[in-house]
Amino acid sequence: MRLDALRRSNLLDTPPDDAFDRITRMAAELFKVPVAAISLTDSQRQWFKSRVGIGVDAIPRLQAPCARVAEEARLLVVPDLLDDAAYRASPLAALGMRFYAGAPLLTRDGHCLGAMCVLGRAPRAITEGEAAALRDLAALAMAQVELRHAVGRVDAVSGLPNRTQFIDDVRGLGTHRPRGEGRLAVLVSLASPEQFGSAERAMGAGYLDEIVVQGVRMLEAGLRHAGTLYHLAPTEFAFVAPPGTDAVELRVELENWLRRRAAAATSRFVTTARIGVAPFRVGAVTDAELLRDLHSAVQQAHDQDCGVSMFSPERDAVYRRTFWLVNEFGAALDGAAAGRKGPLRLVFQPKVDLASGACIGAEALLRWTHPQAGEVAPAEFIPVIERTALMRATTNWVLEAAMHQLAQWRAGGIALELSVNVSAANLLEPDFCVRIVDGLQRHGLPPSSLALEITESALMLNPRLALATLRALDAAGVRLAIDDFGTGYSSLAYLQSLPAQVVKIDRSFVRDIEQDERKRALVATMIKLSHDLGHRVVAEGVETADVLGVLRNADCDEAQGYLYARPLAPEAFADWLVRREPEIVAPA
Ligand code: C2E
Ligand code: MG
Ligand code: MG
Repeated sequence: MRLDALRRSNLLDTPPDDAFDRITRMAAELFKVPVAAISLTDSQRQWFKSRVGIGVDAIPRLQAPCARVAEEARLLVVPDLLDDAAYRASPLAALGMRFYAGAPLLTRDGHCLGAMCVLGRAPRAITEGEAAALRDLAALAMAQVELRHAVGRVDAVSGLPNRTQFIDDVRGLGTHRPRGEGRLAVLVSLASPEQFGSAERAMGAGYLDEIVVQGVRMLEAGLRHAGTLYHLAPTEFAFVAPPGTDAVELRVELENWLRRRAAAATSRFVTTARIGVAPFRVGAVTDAELLRDLHSAVQQAHDQDCGVSMFSPERDAVYRRTFWLVNEFGAALDGAAAGRKGPLRLVFQPKVDLASGACIGAEALLRWTHPQAGEVAPAEFIPVIERTALMRATTNWVLEAAMHQLAQWRAGGIALELSVNVSAANLLEPDFCVRIVDGLQRHGLPPSSLALEITESALMLNPRLALATLRALDAAGVRLAIDDFGTGYSSLAYLQSLPAQVVKIDRSFVRDIEQDERKRALVATMIKLSHDLGHRVVAEGVETADVLGVLRNADCDEAQGYLYARPLAPEAFADWLVRREPEIVAPA
């Protein structure tokens, strides 16, 4: 316990400090002795936080009179070290010291960290007054320790213990609670990071302090199960519920608290508080792990828009994976944008015109090979990247690489229409169309050689803005295709208002179509309606000749799928084109 208190004081092996040195100088002056020190008794050594008149930082604990002061927590006076069998051979005596007096350095809860000591070259006794003065100097040194301790451990706005103290106390649980005891930690976030940012911009930092102080008042008054409340970050508070707290009861209590807070909100800027709860076992989890679990639980609460969320390892695995994907893909993209060949590349899948049997186009598809993890599927990383600012740079890179390839093919006599997939966020970029037109010009490509594939859901995000971008692209002569048709809202009225030339029927409708009469009817209707609205129809995911036969009968215009080719690297694509036999198109 004593050593714990010493470690918690964070004093061992710290650099010299003026506040302590002044006290040491005062002690030497008072006793008219050459040596004085504030000495801390560690398990093996006696370490000097401050010293005058002595050249060493530490001496072995054995034979050090200060160690006895620390153990007995009492003032010790040795009038002559050479007269005392215990200290005759001590390093202090070897340094020419004879007289020793030391007062205990006591923490408020009674632990002794070491001694405030003075040493002289001549034997002597001390008076009552000197003993009292030495005790006062020891108390002064301890006041410094506690002050230092409080600074950096208490939040200035709320006056609550801070993150450092939370970490220390979680570690400390291991020393005074049974190992393996199950406990519940709680993290209360008074605002989402976005709200925090906009509140700060709109109202200033002082206003945020107000939210925080109000939140603390409500937390302290309103939670029966809260132990010590800690202030971890500007809008984050944590506590560890008392032993034996029932998780369900706690959850109900927290949900009620959130409801009361929402009802009592008087601020002009209302923030939504979210709470994460993480169960842990005392001594079986590091403070870093516990904090991570808590943040993961709060993140879940924000994402799922529910008040209180229990930490779930499954959801957490998803978060970790997402985090990894965004980081690693960002790095791959940086490399690719800097012109490095490697993790990112495009592959191309042919599209075949069913009337003539000719390959008339190709779809560019992104591939990512991670240096350690290998191939990551776009179906996994694209939806994640789409939710980040990286999507803009991703589409830029894909478009640039696709146009470059298209220009090369055209120069080699291969005339194709190349499709590129674009995301919802791209359609909301004000300069998207301008950048595309500029790219086409730079590569010497006619606008009609490029098609953009857009999913219906991409259009729903901000239909007005998205539609404006589409109209601009259409006016510039770029072709547009609705991708994955049938999986989204599929509002035909809406489809009618879009300037798209092509509809791509999703592969889920195409798969096994020859065995499924309902699907057949559905696809036939989709094709008919699309034709009526003036669109060309492409079927994706065509894997067998049987499927192709059905599509032909339904009057589908183009097909794409493994039946013809998998997505191919540029060289393989060119080879495929040259070697391709027209008979591969199955007769109707
Ligand atoms: P998508 O645009 O619908 O692309 C068609 C997907 O079907 C591709 O998957 C393709 O490899 C796969 N496919 C083609 N033929 C067959 C077949 O016969 N059978 C089966 N089972 N699958 C077939 P991929 O390349 O894994 O891409 C998945 C999705 O990721 C794409 O769906 C697209 O939404 C997205 N994506 C891929 N590259 C990009 C890109 O550069 N930008 C954006 N925004 N999205 C991309
Ligand atoms: Mg596509
Ligand atoms: Mg598709």
